[in-house]
Amino acid sequence: MLPYAGLENAHFLEACTLCSKPLAHNSDIYMYRGNDPFCSQECRQEQIEIDEAREKRWKKSKKTTTKTNVRTGAVVVA
Ligand SMILES: [Zn+2]
Repeated sequence: MLPYAGLENAHFLEACTLCSKPLAHNSDIYMYRGNDPFCSQECRQEQIEIDEAREKRWKKSKKTTTKTNVRTGAVVVA
């Protein structure tokens, strides 16, 4: 995953986050969490479900694996 740097230039809107299908600029883009573009509601919904499943797993296994991101200047807000 790339850090969300430079949101003001729309280069991150190039492809569907899930299926990597190129997104046309004049077609509908479905956003999720403000940052992730999807080509369709179906793709977005699937990503939501993936995230929810992941969160449940994290809560289930109470291991606190703190990953420190040592990228200079990049603040990743989960
Ligand atoms: Zn898609």
